[in-house]
Amino acid sequence: MANLTSSAKPAGVVRTIKERCQQCYACVRHCPAKAIQVLEGRAKVMDDRCIACGRCVRVCSQDAKEVESAVPEVLQMLREKEPVVACLAPSFPAAFHDVRPGQVIAGLKRLGFDGVYEVSFGAEMVARAYARLLRQNGSKTILTTPCPALVAYVERHRPQLIPHLAPIVSPMIAMGRALKQRYRPDAKVVFIGPCLAKKAEIRRPSLTGAIDSVLTYIELEGIFYRQEIDLSALEESDPSPPVPRVGRIFPVSGGLLRTAMLQGDVLESDIVVTEGADRSMDLLEELIQDIIRPRFLDVLICNGCIDGPMMSNDLHVFSRREIVAHYAREACAATSPAELERELDACAAIDLSRTFTDENQPLRTPTEDELRSILRKINKLSRADELNCGACGYESCQEKAIAVFHGRAELTMCLPYMIERLKQVNQTLKDTEEQLIQSAKLASMGQLAAGIAHEINNPLGTIMIYSNLVYRDLPAEDEKREDLKMVVEEAARCREIVAGLLDFARKSKLSLEPTDMNDLIRDSLAMATKLPVYDHIQVHTDLAADLPPIPVDPRQIKQVLLNLFTNAGEAMPDSGTFTVITRLSSDAERVEIVVSDTGKGIPEENISKLFTPFFTTKDIGKGTGLGLAVAYGIIKMHRGGIEVASKAGEGTTFTLSLPKRQSPR
Ligand code: ADP
Repeated sequence: MANLTSSAKPAGVVRTIKERCQQCYACVRHCPAKAIQVLEGRAKVMDDRCIACGRCVRVCSQDAKEVESAVPEVLQMLREKEPVVACLAPSFPAAFHDVRPGQVIAGLKRLGFDGVYEVSFGAEMVARAYARLLRQNGSKTILTTPCPALVAYVERHRPQLIPHLAPIVSPMIAMGRALKQRYRPDAKVVFIGPCLAKKAEIRRPSLTGAIDSVLTYIELEGIFYRQEIDLSALEESDPSPPVPRVGRIFPVSGGLLRTAMLQGDVLESDIVVTEGADRSMDLLEELIQDIIRPRFLDVLICNGCIDGPMMSNDLHVFSRREIVAHYAREACAATSPAELERELDACAAIDLSRTFTDENQPLRTPTEDELRSILRKINKLSRADELNCGACGYESCQEKAIAVFHGRAELTMCLPYMIERLKQVNQTLKDTEEQLIQSAKLASMGQLAAGIAHEINNPLGTIMIYSNLVYRDLPAEDEKREDLKMVVEEAARCREIVAGLLDFARKSKLSLEPTDMNDLIRDSLAMATKLPVYDHIQVHTDLAADLPPIPVDPRQIKQVLLNLFTNAGEAMPDSGTFTVITRLSSDAERVEIVVSDTGKGIPEENISKLFTPFFTTKDIGKGTGLGLAVAYGIIKMHRGGIEVASKAGEGTTFTLSLPKRQSPR
């Protein structure tokens, strides 16, 4: 039975380089422990959940995952007087496959290591311990523990399996203890291998002291490169004894069994060997759920250690296996079983036991309501909206919502939701662009109108004065009087049009005074509702009682209101409902006046033309098409807004907004 010790969290060995993270969520997707937190769009490794399997390092195309480096520490050790020995993981011939294993050993000696040992001997020691455990064990399933990532996964995420973990150290720790206690008690020990979880393993509470530092193959390769050591040019060198035999096959999946020579001892069906994160996790779930009950479960998170994340080449796993097997055959030829047994006996007193720590941090499961409210925020209102597309890195929308609940994921990681949002933003941009074009068009028309009005104003003034003078001087019976009267009236009409154009062009002067808008509306309504068309119209008002007086030119605003009221009345020739509402805007900075009718409405194609001077659908003589253009000009002069919403056949609503304050012009 494994002992439980108090928790001591090792520092994480992987971190994200924030600037390089491109939000692809590949690390989230591939992390078997879901130990990646996304914060402000950047992935972050959660040290207390990470099992250091290195999958995130492998899948990150941007090289945004940085592994803690032992290079400075090891180089410092080599510079000091104290002897330092290297401890090579059994996969090293596959990692440095383009040179002979003996040349790697020679290279390490060139770097200054005082001896190069093979961890495979530690594997032989461990295999013996497993054989013993299996003989003593009853029917309980034993979970092998050479893979530190698997052990960390159980300790941190599936603590109910801790009693199944074989309380036996890994070959690395076994070798470290053998070196410290028997072969090189004088030396510091540096393990070199393909696994970054080993960096965390040597700091585990029950394992410290055996290994002083862990270098990965990639780090070692870098050191050789920087120190300009060409391995291929070196004479081969032998590893320091003790030399293993089949222990060299340990990094291949099933290697532990081979080394322990267990196949002959137990029934095939009692042993399950598996590799790879997904299969390993599935198998552990089946064990928890009592679906399987093998005596011995040999689980490696990578495809065997020969596929460790820190192997420095892209050789296929099969080729690596072949290279390692070949090296093991060489060892078997070089060392006799009796020789090995003698060495193992000599190490029999070395303690190979270890303990485990329950480091699970249970998180509260969100309630159905809490999940629903998270899902609602990303437009997943029902199960049918949950696409489970996996783009966020989580297998399902529910799983992602749970991660959001626990603060590990962000709402914006949902791709379909973001696409939808982007579409909306796009539409808003388009609408704004159209509005800007429309305002620019109206502004240039305003300039033109102002120019024409200005030019016409002077000759028109002359016409009006002289026609009036002549008219007044003509005797009452003069037959030209009627003609001249028409000239005077038409000239007056022209002056009104010119004044309208000047209003539209915002060239009139404003005479601002604090005004109660509700009073102004009541006045205007009293005038407008006298029009015969209002006889059949129901008039409703809903005027906010708390409106403050606002600075407007009451004469001009009244003109705007009368235009709107008249248009509304004319849009309901037979009957209808007319409503005026006043209110404060949501930010309380503006007064809003909403004028609605249930009249014939405005066809969509006309909406953009409404404020253009001379646009009218009314019969000749009935409309000038200046009413709304003038209203637009007056409201803009007040730094206000005018908006229209209409549906043909249903009615129209104009909304005016006027600021509560006017800054000096
Ligand atoms: P006019 O009233 O002289 O035509 P306006 O500028 O006031 O000029 O209005 C322009 C056009 O806008 C009108 O001819 C009409 O087609 C349309 N319109 C304005 N208000 C309404 C309304 N409340 N309902 C339907 N159409 C309207």
